[in-house]
Amino acid sequence: MSRPIQALIHLDALAHNLRIAQDSAPDAQVYAVVKANAYGHGIARVYEAFKHADGFALLDIAEAKQLRALGWQGDILLLEGLFSVQDLLDCHQFKLSFTVHSIHQIEWLRQFQYSYPQAKLNVFVKMNSGMNRLGFMPEAYRRAWLELEQLDIVQQLTHMMHFSDADGERFDASGIQYQYELFQQVIQDFPAPLTVSNSAAILRHSEALRSDIVRSGIMLYGSSPDYPLHTIQDWKLLPAMSLRSEIIGIQSLVQGQSVGYGSRFIADRRMRIGIVACGYADGYQRISPTGTPVLVNGVRTRLIGRVSMDMLAVDVTEIAHADIGSEVVLWGNSSCGAVLPIDEVAQASGTVGYELMCAVTQRVPFAVQPASAHMKNTAAEGPMEQSA
Ligand SMILES: *Cc1c(COP(=O)(O)O)cnc(C)c1O
Repeated sequence: MSRPIQALIHLDALAHNLRIAQDSAPDAQVYAVVKANAYGHGIARVYEAFKHADGFALLDIAEAKQLRALGWQGDILLLEGLFSVQDLLDCHQFKLSFTVHSIHQIEWLRQFQYSYPQAKLNVFVKMNSGMNRLGFMPEAYRRAWLELEQLDIVQQLTHMMHFSDADGERFDASGIQYQYELFQQVIQDFPAPLTVSNSAAILRHSEALRSDIVRSGIMLYGSSPDYPLHTIQDWKLLPAMSLRSEIIGIQSLVQGQSVGYGSRFIADRRMRIGIVACGYADGYQRISPTGTPVLVNGVRTRLIGRVSMDMLAVDVTEIAHADIGSEVVLWGNSSCGAVLPIDEVAQASGTVGYELMCAVTQRVPFAVQPASAHMKNTAAEGPMEQSA
């Protein structure tokens, strides 16, 4: 038998989470953000569940071509825009929309227009409203917009900005309201569609913000964008990935014995521990400390000692039925229906759900759980029932 680790992708959960985005922003077009190979889930795996999105957003042209090969004919937005003038050939040929966030990119468009005057391109102009990552500052934004309007190959222009604090506690003049109002001031002279909202803004501020297109990412995968302020249960989201393995060894310890490299954990009483086939070479964080939550046969317990490359240890002292072959859920759903939100594991490890789901490595086999089986599982869980 092969090593028992597996990442299971739940198609129903993905489709359900997309509906939550659509319901939260009922007047908007909802784009599914599938950058980084769909946040580690695999574009080809999630595609079926996201077919009812109004568009896709990502940043790698190879991934955009993959979506076209899967049959997607709607809009695809390149969030980081063009990396070189050559990218315009692909945008033209594969009908990809892209952001323009620097004058270099406008220069590339001019060059391209010279050779391909018949091209029809769809451009999202990105304003820097305070994140200071990509985009034009307000004055430069106005100039860029006017220059782009002059280019015949630019068929459609859309305003775009990205919040730095949509997950923050405050919606006031110092945070996202300020960024939004600045954006409104700059764009008011140029009527056009606009896109501002990411997952946090969709869930928290849809009433207060106009965003004709919303860009939903993390929420689609079942992680709360503003955890711990809100959990996935609060937002009625379902985990889209379950990282599961099994216990492959059991050790009985007496008081004073240690566990793992560096003897970082010392038993303070008699203990029974399970050794799990999952380590940092599978993408589980080495930095995750003793106490990080884990499910064994659906029962919540804790990681103990240092995570090694291929294994980690869990406390099964209180889980009498735990034995070799018992199911271990590192995050996501157990097969009996218990849920360990990825956000809890991320918080214990000092990171965010985004990073954990993107970090699962090549050697972990992925499987896809088709729609109906998963719905039965979650229906048995109780609190999540209404949202499923
Ligand atoms: C990644 C990304 C998003 C999606 O953000 P989430 O927090 O995952 O919803 C939206 N817009 C831009 C520009 C992004 O880079």
